[in-house]
Amino acid sequence: MRVPNSLVATLFEPAWDLYDRSIRLRTLRAMRLTQWDTPDVIRARQEADLRTIIAHAAATCPYYRDAWAAAGIDPAAIRTVADLARLPILSKDDIRQNQDGLISSRHRKQDLRKAKTGGSTGVSLEVFCDEPGIQQRAAAALRSDEWSGWRLGQPMAAVWGNPPVARTLKNKLRATLKDRIIYLDTMRIDEPALERFLAEWKRMRPGLLFGHAHSLFILAEYLRDHGKTLDPRGIVATSMMLLEAERRVIEAACGVPVTNRYGCEEVSLIACECEQHRGLHLNADHVITEFLRDDGTPCAPGQDGRLVVTELVNFGQPLIRYELGDRGVPSDRACPCGRGLPLMEQVTGRTADFLWAEGGFRVQGISIIENTLTKLPGIRQMQVVQDEPMCLIVHLVPGPGWGDDVAAELVATLRGIMGQGMVIDLRPTDRIPQEKNGKYRFTICRVASN
Ligand SMILES: [Zn+2]
Repeated sequence: MRVPNSLVATLFEPAWDLYDRSIRLRTLRAMRLTQWDTPDVIRARQEADLRTIIAHAAATCPYYRDAWAAAGIDPAAIRTVADLARLPILSKDDIRQNQDGLISSRHRKQDLRKAKTGGSTGVSLEVFCDEPGIQQRAAAALRSDEWSGWRLGQPMAAVWGNPPVARTLKNKLRATLKDRIIYLDTMRIDEPALERFLAEWKRMRPGLLFGHAHSLFILAEYLRDHGKTLDPRGIVATSMMLLEAERRVIEAACGVPVTNRYGCEEVSLIACECEQHRGLHLNADHVITEFLRDDGTPCAPGQDGRLVVTELVNFGQPLIRYELGDRGVPSDRACPCGRGLPLMEQVTGRTADFLWAEGGFRVQGISIIENTLTKLPGIRQMQVVQDEPMCLIVHLVPGPGWGDDVAAELVATLRGIMGQGMVIDLRPTDRIPQEKNGKYRFTICRVASN
């Protein structure tokens, strides 16, 4: 069934929010306006929200109450972004070891939305968010989708691992009336899958193409080599570094600029390019992003540093000064678009190679990590290396819950994706080092092709 786009934007989207009692579209409408506020106004609002979340965390999260008391910090004294530097950093290990202590006593854990992360840095972690926070995150993502040229109501195409399958009647209705997304599954990219995707594209005419940067590049290469093009209104590349050479190939195949976006499961959207493509606007409405030198002092504009975020909209499990494990570069430039949201430069971490499966099709490395690290218990960190076509070396840092049964399941999962004949060599270790330049590579492929 082909539903008119205007009907989706004006009728089905608002009706769905009403039905779900969601604040998503209301937040989106507000965010469309506030993006044009001056940097001072945005900063003042951000700091008011900061004081609220700090007071909430101190009053209702045992972890923060104890950690800040032990450090001799009066939460009421944390009033500005600069004051944040007095609070301790929250590491992934802190979250892992204090999951319940980080959850607000005003919320029940079972009512919160759980996300298991791993795709971003190759380190697994469970985090929780309350429902209003989820809706506000969705609104921020929609606003940045609009920066690409896409408009609410237009169908989308996702180059992504694990397309969700609508099982309940509600979800089927939602998929038909509202979401209208077609998928190219990055768990298996071969010619038949690409051709199916292109046939569906013709039927649906998506306004937005989004996906892992490198997966979009693979799609664009295929289009180029077969003399084909796509016609989206916007392209959003996310989840990993967008390399300039790949960006050019994607843009040539689709005829519109690529919008580079940066986010993570833990706090969702962090930054996104606007239509000017002169750096990424920070999602300052919802997240305070700090760029820190190795000694913990703030980076100067243009200087690469560790990314530390404080989310302002999740009152279920507030994340305050959470170290992401990525690196990025702050900017003091103003964007010619006129938005007051501050800019950051390119994110400098995160790369993942495609691996070659038995049978010669390509599998996106991030998708492999998402299907193993984030699904199985007992794996803290993982890196998959393919030196030879039929062998995968899996470096992994075991955690509580690791054992022979998990190892067997990991091997079975990897063989299910990569082929039953694949040799899987598991190598438990204490730590997986970053690259010299601070990048994480969670999959490394040294096989040219086969
Ligand atoms: Zn801009």
